[in-house]
Amino acid sequence: MPRTQAPATGSAADTIALLRALIREACVNDGSVGSGQEIRSVRVLQRFLADAVATGRVETHVLESAPGRASLVARLRGTGTGTGTGTDPDAPSLGLLGHLDVVPVDPDGWTRNPFGGDLIDGEIWGRGAVDMLYLTAAFACVLRDAALAPEPPRGDLVLIAVADEEGGGEYGIHWLVRQHPEVVRVTEALSESGGMRMGRHVAIEVAEKGSAGRRLVIHGKPGHASIPYGAKSASYRVGEVLQRLGEVMPAAQLGPLWNAFVSARIQDPALAERLRDPVRLDAALPHLGGIAGYAHAVSRITMSPTVLRAGMTHNVIPAMGTIDLDIRTLPGTTDAEVDHLLRVVLGPLADDIEIEHLRGWAATTSPSDTPLFAAIERAVAAVADAPVVPIMAAGGSDARVLRELGIPAYGFGLLGPDWSYERYREGVHGNDERIDVESVTLSLAALQRIVADRLA
Ligand SMILES: [Zn+2]
Repeated sequence: MPRTQAPATGSAADTIALLRALIREACVNDGSVGSGQEIRSVRVLQRFLADAVATGRVETHVLESAPGRASLVARLRGTGTGTGTGTDPDAPSLGLLGHLDVVPVDPDGWTRNPFGGDLIDGEIWGRGAVDMLYLTAAFACVLRDAALAPEPPRGDLVLIAVADEEGGGEYGIHWLVRQHPEVVRVTEALSESGGMRMGRHVAIEVAEKGSAGRRLVIHGKPGHASIPYGAKSASYRVGEVLQRLGEVMPAAQLGPLWNAFVSARIQDPALAERLRDPVRLDAALPHLGGIAGYAHAVSRITMSPTVLRAGMTHNVIPAMGTIDLDIRTLPGTTDAEVDHLLRVVLGPLADDIEIEHLRGWAATTSPSDTPLFAAIERAVAAVADAPVVPIMAAGGSDARVLRELGIPAYGFGLLGPDWSYERYREGVHGNDERIDVESVTLSLAALQRIVADRLA
């Protein structure tokens, strides 16, 4: 239940109004190139930033990767960089990377219009409210405020509001980094997937698992389906392999982020001790309630069968079947390790299975001893009186593209005290997605401090 909340004022009210406007643009990305149409939300942002642009301090670019697939980059020039007369060549360029697209909805599962942007009892409703329009709106608001402040910042502050995060970024951040590297050039960045509470800590994402998709090609022997006796159907073998994949779990591989998670989240010392032991961890997972899925995912390489294929027509025993696996890797996992692990999991079944590589990317990590991370810690302590815990995300986001370029990038946010990781996960891509005014206000306040800390 939302708690009683004072109505937002000033920049927080502006952020909320912008968030509601972005929700109403309904830039739904279904993965097809014609969907998204983020140009609509780019126009909303341009109107929001008009006064800031009128100062002459902000340079904007609207960049379209395909018709309607627009991203907006707004760079507030710092005194120390970019002009050639800079006084502080080491001043950072802080990027604020927010996406404009949202995932589709199942309207039957919603109790309100998913694209209405309603503000009811201190909560803003709509697809994208949590993922991640509230942050994109807050990013735009801090840039506007910094542009209108009497003193220009020390370094650049760069809003990178992108298309196509939900479709993998091919029409958004990937394209921008390839086609317009100078426009999106930053030295450090904030993006999404942070701010949920882990115990009394606030989680900030510093790493994301990688992806190493594989296709298992499984052979049988064709025959007429009317005489199955003695045939070697690939369908049965697909079934055997699936059963094996369901029974054998890759072993845990624990690193420093795991220990930080356990320390922050697990209060019971005996349970924490079991979780720090890779041998005893799996038996302890059922005691973790709603966080068990996350704990399972970030403590190991995971393998999920997704697409199955076998057979061409109903009266022919299939000679071949395939299983596509969504495999998520840890920092440092190599392709060879994935193939080896897969053979270990398949055991005796592996002998005549071919393993093909599908698309993938490596896990990425940003160090948590950077000046930007320290600024996040100070801001969260000041605004929420809470320590920060660095976490690894099981899924991926656009931040990885910056990390791959060696740019420290953190999943930011500062949600209210009731926002457990489980509540956050439920909101993202779920029905009745909504965010409370308090979380928007806290996140904005922390962002303002970070920007001042790094750039004032
Ligand atoms: Zn997102």
